[in-house]
Amino acid sequence: MADESGTASIVEASLNALLDDETFLPDLHGKTREKAFSSLGSILSTPNHVHKSFLRVPLVSGKVVRIPAFRVQHNNIMGPYKGGIRFHEAINEEEVIHLSSLMTLKSALHEVPFGGGKGGIVIDPANYETNELHLISKKYVQYFSDIIGPEKDIPAPDVGTSAREMDWMMGEYKSIHPGMKYQSSFTGKSVVNGGSLGRNEATGKGVYFTFRYLMHDFMKAQNQWLKERDNVFAKTALNHEGKSLTLAIQGFGNVGSVAALEAYKSSHLNNKVVSVSDKNVTLYNSDGIDIPELVKFTSDNNNELPVSEEKLEDAGIKADIMDRDDVLTLDVDVLFLAALGHQVHKDNMADINARIIVEAANAPLTTEADDYLSNAGVIIIPDILANAGGVIVSYFEWLQSRETQFLSEEEVYERLHDKMKATLDAVLPQYFGDAFPLRKNCYIHAVMKLSTVLFRQGKLY
Ligand code: NAD
Repeated sequence: MADESGTASIVEASLNALLDDETFLPDLHGKTREKAFSSLGSILSTPNHVHKSFLRVPLVSGKVVRIPAFRVQHNNIMGPYKGGIRFHEAINEEEVIHLSSLMTLKSALHEVPFGGGKGGIVIDPANYETNELHLISKKYVQYFSDIIGPEKDIPAPDVGTSAREMDWMMGEYKSIHPGMKYQSSFTGKSVVNGGSLGRNEATGKGVYFTFRYLMHDFMKAQNQWLKERDNVFAKTALNHEGKSLTLAIQGFGNVGSVAALEAYKSSHLNNKVVSVSDKNVTLYNSDGIDIPELVKFTSDNNNELPVSEEKLEDAGIKADIMDRDDVLTLDVDVLFLAALGHQVHKDNMADINARIIVEAANAPLTTEADDYLSNAGVIIIPDILANAGGVIVSYFEWLQSRETQFLSEEEVYERLHDKMKATLDAVLPQYFGDAFPLRKNCYIHAVMKLSTVLFRQGKLY
């Protein structure tokens, strides 16, 4: 979930819960406490800076265009601003502000020493030639060069951008700031250019790890608790022994394909990936889909799933071809949403049949759908918890770039899992001990961390 109103109301609810809990920040009482919490509310709900420019770019056609571009710096109490740069025709200032606030909360929840930032350029990259995209990327750095940097604000890829754009941008940053440390000015770079091994796989692996940890490792420890309750975990997590857990995955890009492969290979859970989808099509096979073969096919075919019987045959995949959105309403145990925001909304929320939803994308449920499905007893593993692998490994990349000492892929995954496990171990006991949905628990943890640091730095006046 987490459109603007949803995030704002959860942050407010988290603050209210903490205001009433006098064991939290016990030095604050009465009017002073109320004033401090009111400060907290305004700090967390407002970005520190909104930078907007119109990049002036000569196109191949000879036309010169002005392209709107943003960099929002939400909060840096935990460390330098950090967040992706999105190239998308529908991105706007309000959305970049919202996404930057989610980064503040996500980094705080996972104890990554960064603040929240986000960038956007209003283009559909498919409509531009490669050299135009190169120029647009360089212009972005030129226009925002004073406010970004390794100790100030560290961008990364997001929707519509990849290691290619980060390499271009870091190159431009280096030209503008000769002699300064440039390696850690951007993350998500190619490995040859100082990127981290494992960064590409980090979000998908983290998504699957979160699901697996909750459903398997943590559940085992909670066995008795669950057996006493007639809830969805007891039904889905425990009763699947001998029976497969059926999984459907919307989106087969960077995040979705890696999560699908992890699920397929998992030795911890008896998974069966029965469906995957992309922007064109849903594939379904009740006996399970051969994910490694499908990954081979998509990497040779512009990252797109086979859309015809003939292509399925070429790929050596057995599956039925269905409409793109059919993936959402299948009768499966678990639905991973790894495509775009707002995929489940008021018009399709009542048709969802999955018992568990994993938010791999940012905000794939609208607030209304989140409330509706939570009330219907669907367990929602929220984006703030599940998809932080990217920012965590970005942090490792930033450290490696600063030290010019590099980790092996295995070391990266080991550290990634350790970090996500630490967050899960902090959040899950409280989740199982009270009535809040998992998302609210995560927000409370993030807000507690931010509030404590703001208080200790004397910022709550
Ligand atoms: P991607 O571009 O590699 O893949 C997106 C996938 O979604 C593609 O398979 C595409 O065909 C599919 N898709 C697009 N529109 C669709 C539609 N209407 N219905 C079904 N499928 C559709 O992107 P990604 O990097 O995998 O990111 C996926 C989501 O995860 C995004 O929302 C992104 O913000 C979020 N996310 C990504 C990262 C990361 O590190 N890549 C980190 C955190 C969050």
